[in-house]
Amino acid sequence: MIDRLCEKIPDHPEPGVLFRDLTPLFADGAGFHRTVDALVDAFRGQYDCVAGVEARGFMIAAAVAYASGVGIIPVRKAGKLPREVLSQSYDLEYGTGTLEIHTDDAPRGSRVLVLDDVLATGGTLGAASALLTRGGYNVAGFGVIMELTALRGRTQLGGHRVRALLRV
Ligand code: 5GP
Repeated sequence: MIDRLCEKIPDHPEPGVLFRDLTPLFADGAGFHRTVDALVDAFRGQYDCVAGVEARGFMIAAAVAYASGVGIIPVRKAGKLPREVLSQSYDLEYGTGTLEIHTDDAPRGSRVLVLDDVLATGGTLGAASALLTRGGYNVAGFGVIMELTALRGRTQLGGHRVRALLRV
């Protein structure tokens, strides 16, 4: 199902990159419902809140949070959050970036399930994990819709549990 609802875009956003576009999955009611349920089931009882990485991770995190009755910590790109933040720079498959969280969105010690659409090199989720750990949270694991296994992103995630609904 995930593969059927994923468009493969050659040379986006740069020559040589095969971009996996999951917007058809997000736009498919039944497909999105099954995707969210699978992530909730995979970590049931193991988290107190979720963190979603801007921007596609927000859609997944909002749905998982609502389905499981927990709150969300937004992991945002630099400069978007209005209060005191922690910042972490990281390498992307193409380019670099900086992610930020507020220092106090959820109680310290909360078990946080970190969600995004795609795990590629692991730079993004690795930075999110580092931020959350610095913020005093416990990373409960990582949930993604798709993992690009050739890029070995799991090796960046410190041995935490990773559930990818589709590994390609
Ligand atoms: P990484 O940091 O693991 O190299 O890249 C993952 C981040 O970049 C995620 O936030 C993800 O949204 C985005 N990303 C990288 N490659 C792809 C891709 O092929 N498709 C999609 N949808 N996102 C990607």
